[in-house]
Amino acid sequence: MLTKPKKSLGQNFLIDKNILQKIVNSVSIYKNKEILEIGPGTGNLTHYLVKKNPKKIFVVEKDSELSLFLSEKFKNKINIINEDVLKISENLISKQKLIVFGNLPYNISTKILSKWIISTNKSFWFSKLILMFQKEVADRIVSEINTSSYGRLSILSNWKLDIEKVMDISRNSFFPKPKVESSLLIFSPKNKFYKIKNSKNLEMITRIFFNQRRKMIKKPFSQIFKNPNQIAKKLNIDLNLRPQNLSLDIYYKITKEYENLRC
Ligand code: SAM
Repeated sequence: MLTKPKKSLGQNFLIDKNILQKIVNSVSIYKNKEILEIGPGTGNLTHYLVKKNPKKIFVVEKDSELSLFLSEKFKNKINIINEDVLKISENLISKQKLIVFGNLPYNISTKILSKWIISTNKSFWFSKLILMFQKEVADRIVSEINTSSYGRLSILSNWKLDIEKVMDISRNSFFPKPKVESSLLIFSPKNKFYKIKNSKNLEMITRIFFNQRRKMIKKPFSQIFKNPNQIAKKLNIDLNLRPQNLSLDIYYKITKEYENLRC
């Protein structure tokens, strides 16, 4: 008998069978593929993944009680890693590229995504990420330039990944019912992306720009560069624009320019 869902671990279990099926059908799972599920909870999504009969299923669940429950429920059909996803080395789980599923705990969902983007240098350890976020966070991830949700998260996420929104999911599809709606996103590694030496520089630069979201970019530009006008001219940037008016590419170029001058 399980104790009640733990709020501290973001335990809102997906109970809508239609949605669960749509999630597993959102990408092709072949018999020779390996799957990683983050936060399987009581195994509602895991059940549909097992039915697809992939080569292997790994699950990472922080809750020891649920890990025990899952091992009794699925026996040797899944490989359980009873750990905190923020502390594991995903690239050591398998030699094969993994298809990753996750109805992520809301309080750490952006931390998990950032960890995966930042830790990837040349080759990716995953072939697809099929992840559920709180809708407001998903909107920020996929947001377009010149919108109010465009910002640090969109710039970091789009750096190495192509992103597609699959669907919104009502709060009624969960137990216990969360306060907010959710959205499902699929991420695929880009073949080519800007070679930034240290992702911390991209994070630092976007932080400086978006801390002053409503101001013209003259100020952050002069905080970052000693000769802002010269760099702006070189990169063809109008310093009277606001942070949300600069394209993704411009942020990657600014970071590269900063690294060329400093590193
Ligand atoms: N996938 C299940 C479902 O859809 O019904 C459960 C999703 S629930 C939103 C999030 C799950 O992540 C919970 O089972 C929770 O215990 C687990 N979790 C929370 N923090 C975690 C962490 N740091 N590492 C691994 N799992 C975590």
